[in-house]
Amino acid sequence: MKDGLPDSGKFIINKEIPDDDHFMTSIETPIRSDAFEIDDEIKVELIEKKFREIMEILGLDLTDDSLKDTPKRVAKMYVKETFRGLNPKNKPSVTLFENKYKFNQMLVEKNIQVYSYCEHHFVPIIGKAHVAYFSAGKVVGLSKINRMVQYYSKRPQVQERLTVQIANEMKEMLQTEDVAVLIEADHLCVASRGVQDVSSSTVTSSYHGKFLDSNVRDEFLRYVYDGK
Ligand SMILES: [Zn+2]
Repeated sequence: MKDGLPDSGKFIINKEIPDDDHFMTSIETPIRSDAFEIDDEIKVELIEKKFREIMEILGLDLTDDSLKDTPKRVAKMYVKETFRGLNPKNKPSVTLFENKYKFNQMLVEKNIQVYSYCEHHFVPIIGKAHVAYFSAGKVVGLSKINRMVQYYSKRPQVQERLTVQIANEMKEMLQTEDVAVLIEADHLCVASRGVQDVSSSTVTSSYHGKFLDSNVRDEFLRYVYDGK
């Protein structure tokens, strides 16, 4: 995936570390070079041990029937579900089709469910992604767009990076610059702790190619918000 800034869109890159704010340092997920040298089963075992320690430090009694399997459950969930998108081997394979009908209008896939995790607090980010593109000769099954959104969501994330990663993937996958991604999401770290603002949601966008034209962008936003 190409590293770089999106052509437009609201996002924050902040080199300083504010106390309780959300920032990101790069478009790429910061990942160690040895990230996949141990296999998933070993990771589950290691995380189980560490999570058990965290619970014990918190003072929980791990002999209680309700708690005794929690470390294992959390470890499996982290490796096999919540953070499975860290591992490139879980990236969905994509088949492209010729655009036989010469459909040259905007294709919009809206309300794609997003379940991600804030990388600063490890609590959920829950929202919807809206993705659009103009075919440059190839089209992709719509369910693949959903799967790609899910793949990048299943990582510790910041919403801005998630938005740009999906846009970059769409550009590469469909061999076009004409891509738009909009995500609206609630961050449980904001809603349930810290400032405890339950009514705010965060909107991020990444517009490229034809979507830099405000008429095209408005058309996309009308599809998303009015369904027309
Ligand atoms: Zn957070």
